[in-house]
Amino acid sequence: MPDSISEDAPRRSWLVVGGGVMGLKIARDLIARGQDVTIAEAAPVMGGLTSAWQLGDIVWDRFYHVTLLSDSKLRDVLSEIGLESEIDWVETKTGFYADGKLLSMSNTAEFLKFPPLSMFERLRLGGTIFYASKIKSWRRLEKLSVEKWLRRWSGNGAFEKVWLPLLKAKLGDAYKQTSAAFIWAHTARMYKARRSGAKKEMFGYVPGGYARILDQWVNVLTEQGLTVRTSSPVIQVATANDGPGLDVTFGNGGTQRFDNVVSTIASPLISKSCDELTSVEKQKLDAIRYLGVVCASMLLKEPISPYYVTNITDTWVPLTAVIEMSTIVNSETQLGGNHLVYLPKYLPDDHEGLNETDDDYKEKCLSTLEKMYDHFSRDNVLDFKVARAKYVAALATIDYSTRLPPIVTSVPGFYALNSAHILEGNLNVNETITLGETKLADEVWPDFVARVKTPHPVANLQQA
Ligand SMILES: Cc1cc2nc3c(=O)[nH]c(=O)nc-3n(C[C@H](O)[C@H](O)[C@H](O)COP(=O)(O)OP(=O)(O)OC[C@H]3O[C@@H](n4cnc5c(N)ncnc54)[C@H](O)[C@@H]3O)c2cc1C
Repeated sequence: MPDSISEDAPRRSWLVVGGGVMGLKIARDLIARGQDVTIAEAAPVMGGLTSAWQLGDIVWDRFYHVTLLSDSKLRDVLSEIGLESEIDWVETKTGFYADGKLLSMSNTAEFLKFPPLSMFERLRLGGTIFYASKIKSWRRLEKLSVEKWLRRWSGNGAFEKVWLPLLKAKLGDAYKQTSAAFIWAHTARMYKARRSGAKKEMFGYVPGGYARILDQWVNVLTEQGLTVRTSSPVIQVATANDGPGLDVTFGNGGTQRFDNVVSTIASPLISKSCDELTSVEKQKLDAIRYLGVVCASMLLKEPISPYYVTNITDTWVPLTAVIEMSTIVNSETQLGGNHLVYLPKYLPDDHEGLNETDDDYKEKCLSTLEKMYDHFSRDNVLDFKVARAKYVAALATIDYSTRLPPIVTSVPGFYALNSAHILEGNLNVNETITLGETKLADEVWPDFVARVKTPHPVANLQQA
C-alpha cells in the first residue's frame, strides 16, 4: 500500500483516462488518498509510449528509454514496486555524425576538437551550453525564439553548422515557432545526468525493460484495489442529467458513471472527448501542437555503433539520431546475445511523414545506414519493426505557458491533466510523474475536496 495521504475526504469513484505512466501515477496517488480508482486504456496493453513489443525472440520497449541518476521521482516509484535496486547503471558515450564522419563527443577534450567548427565557434558553442545549464528560470527564455537565442549566444557559424541541423532533425520546420525554453530543458537534463554521475554520463535501465516495470506496477496497484480496463477507449464524458457524476461512454458503446474523471491523453483528444467544455477551453486544447515520432527498432547480430546516441548534423540523413541501446542494455542477459538499435525521426503531428509505410521507412533506414557505416550490412538484421506516435511531446512554442488550458475544467469533476503541462523540462518519465503528483495535489484534489463539501443540487432535491 502506498503511504496513505491523510485527507479528510470521502471515498468516491474516479476514472483515469490513459494507461501511460501519467495515468498510473495519478491512479497510485488517488488510491493513497483512499479513493476508488479505475484506469481506462484504449490499447490492449498498458504503458502508452513506454509499452513494449516482441522483436525477434526478445520483448523490449517500442521506444527507447533510459533512466538518469537524477530521476528521483521515477526512482521512488521503482523503489515502491521493488525494482529500484535492480537498475543497471552504465556509463555512456555520445557520438556525432558530421561531414560524413563519425566522431566521439563524450567529453570536453573531444568537444574542443569538434572538426566542423573553428576554435572560436567551439568555445562559443560550449559557452552557450554552460550558460544554458546555469539559467534557473525558463520564463524569460519562453518569450524568445530558439533560433534568435542560439544565434545570439553561439554565433551564426555554430548555429548554422550544429544547432540548425540538430533543431531541424528534432523539430522539422516547427523549430521556427519553438522557444529557447526547449534548448534550456534539454541542456538542463543532460547536465543533471553528468552532475549526478560524477561528471560521467550514467544511464540506467531495469532488467526486463519497461514491460517488467509496467507489469509490476499494475500488479501492485491492482492488489491495492485498482481496476484496469484495457482495450477501452473513452469516447465521451458528459455530466449525468439524473444525479451527480459523469457518464463515460466507451468504444464498445457501454456507459459507466464515475464521480470524477482525470484525462491524461493528448490535449486535442481531450477536447474531442468532452463536448461540454467551453469553446475557449476547446480552442486552447486544440491549439497545442505536438511532436510525433516514427521510430524503427532493429535487432542485430552485431552492434553498429559504440555510442548510445549518435546525433546527426548532415542534412541528407533522414533520421534524428541513431540509438544503440545495447551500449546500455546487456546483450547477453537481456537481448539474447543480440544488439538493439533504434532509428527515430521526430516530426510535427500534422506531418505526412508520420504516415509513411513501414516498408518505405525500413528501406530509407537501411540504405542510410549502408552509407553511414562501412561495416553495416542488411544480413546483420534479425528483425525490424516500425512504431509511430502522433502525440509525443507538446511543442514549447513562444509564450507557451500563458496559453495552456486549465486542468480544473468548467465541467465539474472533469480534470484535464496531461504531459502538455510540463514547463520546466523536456518530456521524460520523471518529469511526467512529477507533474502528475504536483498538479494532482495542488489543483485536482483541492477542487475535489471543495466540491464534495458542496452537495450536488440534484442530490439535494432527491434527498428532500
Ligand atoms: C522515442 C521516445 C523516446 C523516449 N525516451 C525516453 C527516455 O529515454 N527516458 C524517459 O524518461 N522518457 C522517455 N520518453 C518519454 C516517455 O515515454 C514519456 O514521458 C511518457 O511515456 C509519457 O507518458 P504519458 O502517460 O503522459 O503519455 P502516453 O504514454 O502517451 O499515455 C497516454 C495513454 O492514453 C491512451 N489513450 C489515448 N486516447 C485514449 C482514449 N480515448 N481512451 C483511453 N485511453 C486513451 C494511449 O493509448 C496511451 O496509452 C521517450 C518517448 C519517446 C516517444
